[in-house]
Parts: sequence; C-alpha cells; structure tokens
Amino acid sequence: MKSIEPFIRDINDFPKPGIVFKDLTPLLNSPEGTDLCLQELLKQIDGAKVDKVVGMEARGFFFGTLIAKALGVGFIPVRKPGKLPYNTISETYALEYGSDVLEIHEDAISPGDRVLIHDDVLATGGTAAAVCKLVERLGGKIVQCNFIMELEFLRGSEKLKPNHVASVLKY
Ligand code: IMP
Repeated sequence: MKSIEPFIRDINDFPKPGIVFKDLTPLLNSPEGTDLCLQELLKQIDGAKVDKVVGMEARGFFFGTLIAKALGVGFIPVRKPGKLPYNTISETYALEYGSDVLEIHEDAISPGDRVLIHDDVLATGGTAAAVCKLVERLGGKIVQCNFIMELEFLRGSEKLKPNHVASVLKY
C-alpha cells in the first residue's frame, strides 16, 4: 500500500535548535501525495457523521478545507488573535515559554453540531486542546481530532482525552 511518508521531509533545527520539524510542503507540492493524504484522512473518519470541520491556522487549513469539501460540510477556521473579522470567542493556552491565544467566530458552530477537528501535526496537544475548548464552548460535539502526523513521544493525545484521536502517521 502506498504511504504519504515519502512526501514528508524532516528539517533539523527548525524553528529552534534541537527540533526536527516535519515539513509537509513536498506533500502539498504533489497532486498524488495530496490525494493520497486526503484519502487516508477520510478513511480514519470511517463514515462518522460530521456537520462541520474546524481547522487551525495555518497548516490545518490545507487539508481541513479538502476534508470539508469531500464530506459536503462547512469549514471553520480557528485563527490567531485579530485575524477573524466578525465577533469571536478566544481561548488562551500554555506554550513551552509563555502562552498563545486562538479565536473562532461566535456564530460558526450551532449547539449540537458534530465537529471534526483537523490539524497537520499533533505535538504536545496544547493547540488542539484549546480548539476543543472553543468548539465545546459553542455547544459543538467533537467527533474526532484528526491529524496527518502525531509525535507520540510528546503524548499529546492524553491532553485530548476523552476525545477520539486519529492520525495517518505516528512518530
Ligand atoms: P502542539 O500544540 O504542541 O500540539 O503543536 C501543534 C501545532 O504546532 C500544530 O498547529 C502544528 O502545525 C505545529 N507543529 C508542531 N510540530 C510541528 C512539525 O514538526 N511540523 C509542522 N507543524 C508542527
């Protein structure tokens, strides 16, 4: 079976010394890789009913919109502060040093909507956990946290419990 692995490139010491960054630009630069990745992401949804796909800035936008289009549902962006034009709610989350904030439009999700959360990489889980909180505060029900890659040694999926986590590649 074909794998998306050959389309993912390791970049040493990015963005900081000691970090090995998983670069998916070769995947995006290949129609074959992009299609393969989309099929794998859809497979792991396994026919679950989804009303909305939420993707986070910025690399969650690429496949988040493709997944939403393939499922025939809407895509909702989660963005850094000040980027969304309408009324938002926000969630602050801890980083290794300091904190960051993510925002979502207050009318993007209706209570009871079944929401799929998508991002490219699950690392420590801080980003995805903040997005889960935003979705839940708007009354959404999380169907799955869906990733292309999971860096298992950082134990991000533990932060997302009891939500279901699925990833195409695990490192
Ligand atoms: P976390 O909050 O520590 O789970 O980090 C996840 C966020 O950082 C995601 O939005 C990813 O896009 C980004 N990220 C972390 N590591 C990588 C990587 O190796 N490649 C690409 N993005 C990464």
